[in-house]
Amino acid sequence: MSKKIKIIPIFVPHQGCVNDCVFCNQKKITGLSTSMTKEQVIFIIERNLKTMSDDCQKQIAFYGGSFTAIDLTIQKELLAVAKSYKDSKRIDKIKLSTRPDYINRHILDILKENRVDIIELGVQSLDEEVLRLSNRGHSIKHVYDAVKLIREYKFTLGLQMMIGLAGDNEEKCIKTAKEFIKLKPDIVRIYPTLVLKETLLADMLSSGEYQPVNLEEAVRISAKLLMMFTFNGINVIRVGLQPTDNITEGNDVLAGPFHPAFRQLTESYIYRLIIDESFAENDIKDTESISVEISSKQISNFVGNKKTNINHITKVFRINKVNIMANNELKQEIKVYIKDEIIDIDIKKYTKKYLKENGLI
Ligand code: SF4
Repeated sequence: MSKKIKIIPIFVPHQGCVNDCVFCNQKKITGLSTSMTKEQVIFIIERNLKTMSDDCQKQIAFYGGSFTAIDLTIQKELLAVAKSYKDSKRIDKIKLSTRPDYINRHILDILKENRVDIIELGVQSLDEEVLRLSNRGHSIKHVYDAVKLIREYKFTLGLQMMIGLAGDNEEKCIKTAKEFIKLKPDIVRIYPTLVLKETLLADMLSSGEYQPVNLEEAVRISAKLLMMFTFNGINVIRVGLQPTDNITEGNDVLAGPFHPAFRQLTESYIYRLIIDESFAENDIKDTESISVEISSKQISNFVGNKKTNINHITKVFRINKVNIMANNELKQEIKVYIKDEIIDIDIKKYTKKYLKENGLI
């Protein structure tokens, strides 16, 4: 069994960003306003290591700004600290996130020398207009070039995308996801766009230039993307923004599809789609009650937030009572007991059916 991954997050504030992406207020996201020093890095690593057991995989993660765009001297200083922990086997992996236009051979040589394992690229969209309206300051070509080089150097590749940016729509998100799948990343993150205080997007919101997607739409689009990636064997390590103390609705989030359990909403919505596909095909409807067997881990996704999926089954398939039973032998499968019949629902099969019917594969 693979070891549980424990992250030691080191937030490197806005340093190094040559431009301001309209949605970004990195100082707010990281909760820091000063630059990061090597002494602080050591302090953070030591503090985190004290809380970690020996049996987990420990990763140092440089998040926040665009790491490889920071002044090279600072970059090397911070990386040297991380490397010393890896050399002494006190941590297992080093990862960082950065911009696609700050990847070149010289940078990758430095990252290799310092034993970095994982590079996550903030791509956000593979639509030129969306990149331009977001003031990303790089083009699609930068993304493809960066991915090619990262692959050549054999780093683990992560790609991050956003939904609901200015000029964006569902079709463009799907197109970006399809392109991501072709690029074969090892990991993906999906972030819904939130309007944070003190950002250009906040100004665009008040001038009426920008309209965020609502929560329902964000969940619907994210569900499609998550299904596409998962079906293609790509590990989606995050859906939604991590709710930190200062990223809470009404505090720093002015507008946008914020929800503290965004991923759970998305996974529940996927179950809704699977229920619709499989119940219709197997004629599961018009009965007083059914019993459903599912792995305990998936029960909350099947039931849905505030029982939305159960209410959906009652309303759409006219079934008054749904009994849920845990069966941890079931992984990619659900068993439905209806009268004297047992129906096996293969989740992968219905995911494929849905993706095919909707032109997503
Ligand atoms: S590149 Fe990243 S850190 Fe820099 S402004 Fe854009 S989103 Fe913020």
